Amino acid sequence: MKKQQLSIYVHIPFCMQKCRYCDFLSAPADDSTKERYVNRLCHEIANESKALNEYEVDTVFFGGGTPTVLSGEMLERILNEIYVNYCVSEDAEISIECNPGTADYDKLCKLEKAGFNRLSIGLQSVHDEELAVLGRIHTYAQFEACYADARKAGFDNINIDLMSALPGQSLTSYGACLEKVISLRPEHISAYSLIIEEGTPFYEQYADHPERLPDEETDRAMYECTRKRLLEAGYERYEISNYSLPGLECRHNLVYWRRGQYRGFGIGAASLIGETRFSNVDDFEVYINNTHIKRDMQVLTQQEQMEEFMFLGLRCTKGVCAQVFERLFGQRMEAVYGQVIEYYVNLKLMVCVQEKEETWYRLTNAGIDVSNEIFASFLLS
Ligand code: SF4
Repeated sequence: MKKQQLSIYVHIPFCMQKCRYCDFLSAPADDSTKERYVNRLCHEIANESKALNEYEVDTVFFGGGTPTVLSGEMLERILNEIYVNYCVSEDAEISIECNPGTADYDKLCKLEKAGFNRLSIGLQSVHDEELAVLGRIHTYAQFEACYADARKAGFDNINIDLMSALPGQSLTSYGACLEKVISLRPEHISAYSLIIEEGTPFYEQYADHPERLPDEETDRAMYECTRKRLLEAGYERYEISNYSLPGLECRHNLVYWRRGQYRGFGIGAASLIGETRFSNVDDFEVYINNTHIKRDMQVLTQQEQMEEFMFLGLRCTKGVCAQVFERLFGQRMEAVYGQVIEYYVNLKLMVCVQEKEETWYRLTNAGIDVSNEIFASFLLS
């Protein structure tokens, strides 16, 4: 019998220093803290394997934080723990996030040899002044060296993260940034607008002074420039903020948007197994010292599952398939969401596309521009 597919996320909550805009669960740490965490993480990974032996692991993603602040040996040890305890498919996508300045050629070789086959590099900007404003630990030259080392080490699937609407950024400087990244020809580019998150230094600085940030019109122009230039350069937009060369979408992220099953290990990591969502505790000491670390256990009702199916699926440019919906929920998508779909189709914010036997609903470009509003209208209560 074919095994069910599972994705594994591993959270590494350490960074060299905190970026000024970041509200992720991450902080600097000393060597002994890292060691304690890796020990506990390996224990959790091994411990959970019995409950998940019916699954085949199709994607693994080490995220953070900055996973590459751990030594190559530590990262290899964690990945081995997964290989030893789980059935990992032969062509599994195994990604790791990396910050320039935390991974030299030797470490990248070690990671490639250990089995990592996709690297996601956080660049954000090619301009050193902008990197300094963001509080990044690296310069553009360090990124370039890291990228070249990664290629030399054998990574042939690389993502670059970019940010727009940064303090002091103009459309011209963002355009130059985009061109430089395109010229490197990474397989994947994630491009997000800066969001000012509460509790960060940027919140203190900019929440009450939006005039210090690029205005809405410039933000929109950057967003349009991203779409236009990446499409011209042969990238496909497969999700609102994610572009790839044909066939090189991030399989792991697609699992989240398609509501596949995933298990998160490490502090704060989220999981969806069957129809149960839960996450691990986000307190470091509680995670290290306790055996009961799962919390917020929520068995989703069918209504919640349908809602998620719609608003997560519509993030993908391919959209949502009416036949899959019916197979999963025993009801026609049009019977549940007919009115709201018709409303947005009439406004040309959604389209219906027939592909062989399948009916797909997807957002148009104009729909993607107001996607948050559209997603909210797929909530049934
Ligand atoms: S490197 Fe990433 S996770 Fe770490 S502080 Fe910066 S943005 Fe946050």
